Amino acid sequence: MCAWVDNAGDDVCRECGGDAAQEGPDRVCTSCYAEWYISYCWRCKAHIDERDTTRAADGWCICRRCGASAPPELIAEQEGEHGGGWA
Ligand SMILES: [Zn+2]
Ligand SMILES: [Zn+2]
Repeated sequence: MCAWVDNAGDDVCRECGGDAAQEGPDRVCTSCYAEWYISYCWRCKAHIDERDTTRAADGWCICRRCGASAPPELIAEQEGEHGGGWA
């Protein structure tokens, strides 16, 4: 679960070096089926790779550049009502 809007370009699997299929911000390796998430920070637009990103206690990725986790509106939404459907 990550809070990053939009998504970045293609990437290569770090497990096997294979090509990744892109499904929105998600990447799925076509060889070993490793999954990860690539996107941009909603606040500072830094490139976010889930594999390089620390997660907060609530599960959101923390931006390494600006320290943002989830967008405020998403946190409010999550606290107000469960089952938002964000992967
Ligand atoms: Zn792979
Ligand atoms: Zn940021």
